[in-house]
Amino acid sequence: MFIEPRVGNRQQAHKRGWIEVICGSMFSGKTEELIRRLNRAKIARQRVEIFKPAIDTRYHEEDVVSHNATSIRSTPIQFANDMLLLGSGCDVVGVDEAQFFDEAITEVCVQLANSGVRVIVAGLDMDYLGKPFGAMPALMGVAEYVTKVHAICVQCGEIASYSFRNAASQEKVLLGETDSYEARCRHCFQEGMKGKL
Ligand SMILES: [Zn+2]
Repeated sequence: MFIEPRVGNRQQAHKRGWIEVICGSMFSGKTEELIRRLNRAKIARQRVEIFKPAIDTRYHEEDVVSHNATSIRSTPIQFANDMLLLGSGCDVVGVDEAQFFDEAITEVCVQLANSGVRVIVAGLDMDYLGKPFGAMPALMGVAEYVTKVHAICVQCGEIASYSFRNAASQEKVLLGETDSYEARCRHCFQEGMKGKL
């Protein structure tokens, strides 16, 4: 389990920032892990702000909600750049569903971290085709800490790192995931993709 290098005392004059990335497939517990870290920061009396792309309206407009319904209040924003202004006074900035943000998110996270903010980014590392998703690879590159969390393959019970799409839609961004996606291991993902060609 990830243990913070430092949590409290971030109001000091010379506070230092860094970037953490939590990545994985759907149903891997990314959001739960993000919420866990942010709640710990809150307990340490840190000023915490959470952002998510305005596109992600699956459950509730303003809450970051995980599949098991733990939630934390968040601010939906349209562009990654909005975080610079809204997150500048914070000790900790959390970002959920980071793969849906524009490419600017990497530079935004770097700038926030450089200015002393602890930035925690959660997102899907691969899309439904098994390809790296959006800015996630770049974010992993600039992060100090990268945590890959895993789901369980619903086909065979092995460790899963792929999000397999059952629906026929060709849109890359398909929300309402519980019906449309399942976590699969590499083998079962490949088997499933064969059936689609
Ligand atoms: Zn499997």
